[in-house]
Amino acid sequence: MFRKYYRPQSIAEALVILADYEGRARVLAGGTDLMLQLKQGEISFEAAVDITAIKELRYITEENDSIKIGALSTHTDLAQSPVLHKKALFLADAARSVGSLQIRNVGTVGGNVVNAQPAADTAVPLMALNAVVTVVSPGGVRQISFDDL
Ligand SMILES: Cc1cc2nc3c(=O)[nH]c(=O)nc-3n(C[C@H](O)[C@H](O)[C@H](O)COP(=O)(O)OP(=O)(O)OC[C@H]3O[C@@H](n4cnc5c(N)ncnc54)[C@H](O)[C@@H]3O)c2cc1C
Repeated sequence: MFRKYYRPQSIAEALVILADYEGRARVLAGGTDLMLQLKQGEISFEAAVDITAIKELRYITEENDSIKIGALSTHTDLAQSPVLHKKALFLADAARSVGSLQIRNVGTVGGNVVNAQPAADTAVPLMALNAVVTVVSPGGVRQISFDDL
């Protein structure tokens, strides 16, 4: 188990906590991968940084010719998104195929991507869409192609 639990309200606050722990803290989103790995003893960490209160990370919008998806968007958000239904139905369909309703309601696209399971259901459509991932750290903001990620 972890000894400390944090629930930051902003990306900036989360980054300060993560930096303080110098790699000994883990981001916790829906927890559907992380908590199982913890229980099974596959990973250990000192602090959990629960990002679910960071509202700026949960959105699906259309801007010019691109779609923007916040990392905290759940599989249910993707499955029900009018933007995805109009522009990338196969990504909405992939999200709808994840696990059960309970898993889809809390599991996030960010967690699905970061966990990097070869069979992750949103990974193939995101690759096909030439997705670009925005990664934020105390050092700044980087954009990485899905392929490179
Ligand atoms: C019963 C069950 C069925 C499942 N079925 C499927 C399935 O059919 N298809 C499928 O693809 N997956 C499935 N999964 C796996 C899981 O639900 C998904 O991978 C889910 O999207 C993970 O998201 P999460 O928010 O729960 O991630 P978490 O468990 O919270 O985190 C996963 C990893 O990502 C990191 N992380 C999370 N968010 C961020 C972020 N914003 N920034 C940086 N790091 C982050 C965490 O630190 C952790 O290492 C299943 C899991 C269970 C338990």
